[in-house]
Amino acid sequence: PVICITMSTCAKAAGAEETRRAIEETLAERGIDAHVVDVGCLGHCYAEPLIIVSNPALGFPPICYHGVNASKGKLIVRSYLEDGDPSFEYILGAMEENDLIPPVTTFPRFSLEQRVVMEYCGFISPWDIREYIEKGGYEALARALETDPSRIIEEIEKSGLRGRGGAGFPTGRKWRLARNQPSNGKIVICNADEGDPGAYMDRTIIESNPHQLLEGLIICAYAVGASEAIVYVRAEYPLAVKTVRHAIEEARKYGFVGENILGSGFSLDVRVFQGSGAFVCGEETALIQSLEGRRGMPRHRPPYPVEKGLWGLPTVVNNVKTLASVPAILSKGAEWFRSIGTESSPGTAIFSVVGNVKHAGLVEIAMGTTLRELIFEVCGGIPGKKKFKAVQIGGPSGGCLPEEFLDTPIDFDSLTRAGAMMGSGGMVVMDEDSCMVDVARYFLEFTQKESCGKCTFCRIGTKHMLDILDRITKGEGSGNDLELLERLAHEVKAGSLCGLGKTAPNPVITSLKYFMDEYRAHVEEKR
Ligand code: SF4
Repeated sequence: PVICITMSTCAKAAGAEETRRAIEETLAERGIDAHVVDVGCLGHCYAEPLIIVSNPALGFPPICYHGVNASKGKLIVRSYLEDGDPSFEYILGAMEENDLIPPVTTFPRFSLEQRVVMEYCGFISPWDIREYIEKGGYEALARALETDPSRIIEEIEKSGLRGRGGAGFPTGRKWRLARNQPSNGKIVICNADEGDPGAYMDRTIIESNPHQLLEGLIICAYAVGASEAIVYVRAEYPLAVKTVRHAIEEARKYGFVGENILGSGFSLDVRVFQGSGAFVCGEETALIQSLEGRRGMPRHRPPYPVEKGLWGLPTVVNNVKTLASVPAILSKGAEWFRSIGTESSPGTAIFSVVGNVKHAGLVEIAMGTTLRELIFEVCGGIPGKKKFKAVQIGGPSGGCLPEEFLDTPIDFDSLTRAGAMMGSGGMVVMDEDSCMVDVARYFLEFTQKESCGKCTFCRIGTKHMLDILDRITKGEGSGNDLELLERLAHEVKAGSLCGLGKTAPNPVITSLKYFMDEYRAHVEEKR
């Protein structure tokens, strides 16, 4: 028998380490010979800790139990592995609704999702490269190394892959621009400096299947002609840092990293850099400055990093999800990738869905899925029979969309048209009890604190906006404040240099547009 225990940050926070200890102790006490394996996150963060028990000898398919605390873990071992009864009814006596998740392969949520990047997340050990290789991992790299780099870029261009960090720039075009730069030294960077409140997609992918990201990164380096690759990951993600470091060392031992990779003559050094927690360093020029040991501040573009990036060398900066999509595209083909999603946004989108939603966690859906399908079908809707009020998409710089936008397809262009944005994949769902003015204030406070201070509008404008929101939420605001707030929001947007300042007013602008009655109620009723 094999017991897989999710051991990502979300699972550990829910007590997975205690569960594992209890299971291991019970196995030892009862003399049961079973293999316990740590796996990454399945995306069902609301149900952690999760364990998947496989016992082919008994003829059952793998069974996934959720909410497994230490005592439930002991009961499952004794009931299933000792007495041969996997049912939770037997274990608990009285069973709560949904306590037993069906065989993991037929779990309902998986039929609604479409997993490309997260296909193996939660099903393989992130600590053992052999498990990724068994699933066909690094085959795309081996084939890529026998292919002309231009052909690889052509395939990525044909796939229509767009950058998953938020901007949606065509990945193939970025690679082509870098490849065409006349320079011997080129660098590729994986941007894992995820900092949006409520967003944890990149962390989870790294903690669950770091090799898929590494494989994409190595292919990218080969395609553009880089000899150095860096994974820029925030230091607040200690498990992700440890996991990716371990993965790089394993990849080195297997000949996927280092000199003369797989005998191809192509060499690549990969290293990890830990970011120091400034949200603005997710912006590529600020990220590059911080890598150079300078204060992380965005700079004017052009020149773009693909022309003049780290140390003045052509540099490709790609998000974790972008790079992790690459092996599947090269293995299954650009046409296959294009068959998922929409014409202008092919492929899948990964969201961390949090807030007032029953099944919070990580989901990977085909682009073009509507907000309603994602929130109500994939994530189970709003708990406590409450009504849906709004969804904040695209992190602190995204927009708050009300109910009438629930049928908006999730893709780069539709979300932008609706006044929100794809961002890097943070999504916060709010029910009827949420105050939209408080929500706007919360997000603005975050971006205001994270402003690097280079531009006056972003540095001082957001502070004024926050002061106004403070007055309004304390019941001390006036009608003039609402006018001033709106004007300032548009001026900060227009007068800021980088994406942080240009989008920081979005939650305020969209909430003023769709929830003006709540602002008025604060001002008029002084509450
Ligand atoms: Fe810094 Fe804000 Fe200007 Fe961006 S917009 S460079 S975060 S001050």
